[in-house]
Amino acid sequence: MADRQTIIEDDMRFIPYGKQSLDKKDIADVMSVLKTDWITQGPKINDFENALSHYTGAKYAVAVTSGTAALHLAAIAGGISKGDEIITSPITFAASSNSILYAGGRPVFADVQSDTANIEPKEIEKKITGKTKAIIPVHFSGQSCEMDRISKIAKKHKLIVIEDAAHALGSLYKGSKVGSCKYSDMTIFSFHPVKHITTGEGGVVLTNNKKLYEKLLMLRSHGITKDKSLFENADENCGAWYHEMRMLGFNYRITDFQCALGISQLKKLDGFV
Ligand SMILES: *Cc1c(COP(=O)(O)O)cnc(C)c1O
Repeated sequence: MADRQTIIEDDMRFIPYGKQSLDKKDIADVMSVLKTDWITQGPKINDFENALSHYTGAKYAVAVTSGTAALHLAAIAGGISKGDEIITSPITFAASSNSILYAGGRPVFADVQSDTANIEPKEIEKKITGKTKAIIPVHFSGQSCEMDRISKIAKKHKLIVIEDAAHALGSLYKGSKVGSCKYSDMTIFSFHPVKHITTGEGGVVLTNNKKLYEKLLMLRSHGITKDKSLFENADENCGAWYHEMRMLGFNYRITDFQCALGISQLKKLDGFV
């Protein structure tokens, strides 16, 4: 096996698979966060989430360590578990299906349209069984799936819809931004350097559902919450130090300096598109 340095040097001789566009402002904004006391779990995370909500029109945003982590949390928050079948696209990156497998579900592939390479709603309907729990449409190379048709099918069969919009930040569908969650329960984006804006590694889950939002926040940080309204075992007089672990979560927290980069990059998104 070739050593890692040789692999990197070989790769550098070719046209890159993707290349980020970073300017002085991006770098200055990251540097300024590095000089503060909050390099993680600080205010820039909320600022980035608010900027993403504002841009897409979705009510809530939960920023995480990658698009894959976003898909994983969305799958769990959406209730995907052992024995469930989830219908998704066969033409996508591995993470769309891997997230289903992480949650214990089984990916079921529905064929794509020959002109868009996006999942065909009629093919989705053919694959629905009593075990189907969710649909994960992928907006291939940035063009939105036919979300109005997919959303109708989901409502009819009571299925969760999670949009894998890793390629589609900045896209419009029937007058709303992809990410608005107008036709879905949750939408995810990735901020890997090959996508439209970057935070190095990073991702986000967007939703309009408060219950899902609260669950996603907990899952991002070990399933632990400090939100009093979510406590089940505390008494009235519990101290400010009191936390509760309500479910098995993860450490999928993004850092403040990554979010500073994300905020600066988001301002340039329309130009990038
Ligand atoms: C990039 C990508 C992901 C995963 O994003 P990461 O941030 O790399 O984890 C998921 N789905 C699709 C379609 C992608 O292109």
